[in-house]
Amino acid sequence: MDPKYADSITWVSSYRFHQVVVNAFTDEHHRVLLAGEAAHLFAPFGARGLNSGVPDAVIAVRGIEKALSASSEEERKAAIAASAKERRIAALWNRDGSSTALHHLQGDSREMNMKREIAASLVSVVPSMGRWLDEGPYGPKFGPPELTTKY
Ligand SMILES: Cc1cc2nc3c(=O)[nH]c(=O)nc-3n(C[C@H](O)[C@H](O)[C@H](O)COP(=O)(O)OP(=O)(O)OC[C@H]3O[C@@H](n4cnc5c(N)ncnc54)[C@H](O)[C@@H]3O)c2cc1C
Repeated sequence: MDPKYADSITWVSSYRFHQVVVNAFTDEHHRVLLAGEAAHLFAPFGARGLNSGVPDAVIAVRGIEKALSASSEEERKAAIAASAKERRIAALWNRDGSSTALHHLQGDSREMNMKREIAASLVSVVPSMGRWLDEGPYGPKFGPPELTTKY
């Protein structure tokens, strides 16, 4: 950073990326539903964290609503289990999406370095290479194919 900004810096720390998803979004009795960072941690590339934490909460509320109006314990459990399953599938999808973005940005494999070098050398003749370098596979462009719910 340019030294002229030194006075503006009030806090410096290191930040470790995690790419993790809980084994289950609910407990064995289906009394608890996890959402957001309590259920998954992703690298920020791809903007998957809050963008999946909010749908976790929305789907959890829908599941709880169904559970509250269930006419049997079995139905109640099924409502919570469905929410938990749906959001775990999405979490795995989002984890993989942020891994792809992380790899694009920070990956230092020979293949990735070669792709970057080729793209950079061809930018002046193939402008889309520049867009690929700049934008990469960031951002959720579509959801997991298994899900039918629209947000
Ligand atoms: C650098 C960076 C960039 C990011 N960029 C994006 C982005 O572009 N797009 C995107 O979608 N996501 C992004 N994220 C992720 C996003 O910030 C998180 O996914 C989101 O904030 C998680 O919200 P949450 O409510 O689940 O958890 P948190 O925001 O962690 O909230 C949990 C809260 O619980 C409190 N708490 C913890 N323990 C206790 C306790 N025992 N008792 C009471 N309170 C407690 C904490 O203080 C905190 O306030 C980014 C994250 C980082 C770090």
